[in-house]
Amino acid sequence: MRKFIFLLLFIVSSEIYADIIKVTILGSGTPRVSFERFSQSILIEHEQDKYLFDAGRGALIRLYQSNILPNEIKKIFLTHLHSDHVLGFSDILMTGWVYHRQSPLQIYGPKGTKNFVDSIIKAYEEDINVRSQAPENLDIRGLQTNIDTIYDGFEYQNNGLTIEAFAVKHEPFVHAYGFKIYNKRYCVVISGDTSYSEKVIEKSKGCDLLIHEIAHASEHTLKKYPKAKGVISYHTNVVEVSDIINKTRPRLTILNHVLSLDGSSDDDILNAIKQNTEHDVLIAKDLMTIDVKDDIYIYKQKNL
Ligand SMILES: [Zn+2]
Ligand SMILES: [Zn+2]
Repeated sequence: MRKFIFLLLFIVSSEIYADIIKVTILGSGTPRVSFERFSQSILIEHEQDKYLFDAGRGALIRLYQSNILPNEIKKIFLTHLHSDHVLGFSDILMTGWVYHRQSPLQIYGPKGTKNFVDSIIKAYEEDINVRSQAPENLDIRGLQTNIDTIYDGFEYQNNGLTIEAFAVKHEPFVHAYGFKIYNKRYCVVISGDTSYSEKVIEKSKGCDLLIHEIAHASEHTLKKYPKAKGVISYHTNVVEVSDIINKTRPRLTILNHVLSLDGSSDDDILNAIKQNTEHDVLIAKDLMTIDVKDDIYIYKQKNL
């Protein structure tokens, strides 16, 4: 009887926890330097697999705070090559090697990614020469990379998870993408850096979790500082985000890449958005984890 109950519990819990997509915001910020808000990196875990979307400043530190070692990251997807999204890449590449990464690092990024990665390996030439010889004798195969150039409609599939890249608008960046990540039950969309994008709306409809960027500046700031107006023009403001949420109606929206150009707090930004939408919206914080399942569960892995 006891065996039967255990078996039943196992079957029931397996069903409840099947297909969960676990999302951890490693970096919720922008190029601005902040202890609390590193620049953008998002970890997605599905089955036994870990996928890193962007590798912003301090990504490796945040991974370590999430109990993930440098050699455990083997798949990296890049939305675009703005420095705030790739500043932490060399740390993962080089330190993952020092931690004996056992397989090539798979990198999926826009045009220019191969040049970016090759240039980093070239820049660390002396370190690589030294560490691959005695006394460290690191296996040079741990530094191998496989690079796939993504494009609008690019698809990657692994263990029941599909990752689809779609082009967004982030001019003057020509090659900028968002990602739709889904299995047979759940769906997560990462907008990447973008201004208001019909493509994001198309891809997010019916999704469980939308992770969208946000930028805010008051009318006064925009008038006074033309540069602020320029920066805002290739990001998405509160009115536009509200419109996107109302059109896509995700179960939850998390606003990431939080850019406040006028000193507005997270609460100010959130309140402005809530004036325009009744759907569930939160502002991301570093190390916030979201379990996407039948009941979306949000928790913080660790205090900073
Ligand atoms: Zn950015
Ligand atoms: Zn950008």
